[in-house]
Amino acid sequence: MKVNGPRLRADLEALAQIGRNSDGGIDRTALSAEDAAARTWYESRCQEAGLEVRCDKWANMVAGAAHSWDGAAVWTGSHLDTVPDGGALDGALGVVAALECVRRITEEHLELAHPVQAVVFADEEGNYSHLFGSYGLVHGYSDRQLAAMTGREGDALTDALRDFSWRTGEPFDPGRIRHFVELHIEQGPILEQRDIPIGVVTSIVGLGGAEVVFTGRADHAGTTPMTMRRDPGRAAGAFLTRLADIAASIGDDAVITCGRFSFQPGASNVVPDAANLALDFRAPTSDQVEALTRALSTAAHECASAHDVGCAVHLDQPVSPVELDAEVRDIIRAAAVRNVLPTMDIPSGAGHDSQNMSRIAPTGMIFVPSHAGRSHSRFEHTDPELLENGATVLLETLVSLAR
Ligand SMILES: [Zn+2]
Repeated sequence: MKVNGPRLRADLEALAQIGRNSDGGIDRTALSAEDAAARTWYESRCQEAGLEVRCDKWANMVAGAAHSWDGAAVWTGSHLDTVPDGGALDGALGVVAALECVRRITEEHLELAHPVQAVVFADEEGNYSHLFGSYGLVHGYSDRQLAAMTGREGDALTDALRDFSWRTGEPFDPGRIRHFVELHIEQGPILEQRDIPIGVVTSIVGLGGAEVVFTGRADHAGTTPMTMRRDPGRAAGAFLTRLADIAASIGDDAVITCGRFSFQPGASNVVPDAANLALDFRAPTSDQVEALTRALSTAAHECASAHDVGCAVHLDQPVSPVELDAEVRDIIRAAAVRNVLPTMDIPSGAGHDSQNMSRIAPTGMIFVPSHAGRSHSRFEHTDPELLENGATVLLETLVSLAR
């Protein structure tokens, strides 16, 4: 059984128009107007297929047949939100393919023991908190945790969630999820280099995030002698130069990124009184993520005291690395073999909602190649045939699991 390739492509193309900016990238950050527009489009596609859409309080959406809401279900899906100036496939492929699989199962009137439902997770890309929706579904959040989350623009998550129409108070019961499978682009170069169309994901990297704030004293840029300044920009600069050594000290696969940096008040003729850095750090084991957390915090405080400024490190909820389910991996491989598609086992260096879902259900992930390994950019591309192959392997995997 195969997916409807032209329909899958048309859906991806329609979705790629939502949030498209003048440079050709896609701005569809979580809980934005563009995110809402993508959800409206998605809901209408689900309704055209005769599916019902429900949301929970974390703004996760699930689509399923009217009779599919009681008892255990097989879930598949991904995310509609993008990074700023992101690409057309990260998340979108898994969401559109999930809908396509549910449609094909409905069209074929397959008699399955368990329904298959399509999920859209909220804020996978961490505008407010990385893997926000799937984490909420699996673990929930305290009011204190929610109150501490702010977006890239400094807006409070609680305000954004309150104003976002795509949420209700009805939680999904995690106990109802029998299996979870996510189709995603690789976001790296390996599959393309080896000319392998299907990656069977073995494990997902552990991930931490932090906001580091150096605080000093705002002063006149012309009249304050260099020796009398308490300039948090200097501490922040010193800290940044240490990141590569810190990562290397933890392990070859450890990475640290500072992708956002700002000074306050942010005028060229004022010594800043604060410097904020957003950090993303990843490693294959929980111990390494913890070691990174400690090393980063120590280094930040050392840089602060060397420059006579204050320092606070606000840590995000870390996401532990996970092994994906061996049996689901076998089923993915068997589906690929039936379609004469070579596979290889591959770890994921990117975080995914599957990471959280694997805490509550046997979980698998399917990768398709990313052209030149490009992702989180407008240059994200995968040939349509490879996208269809991935969606067909997803479909057959879901059917096997639901039988
Ligand atoms: Zn993604």
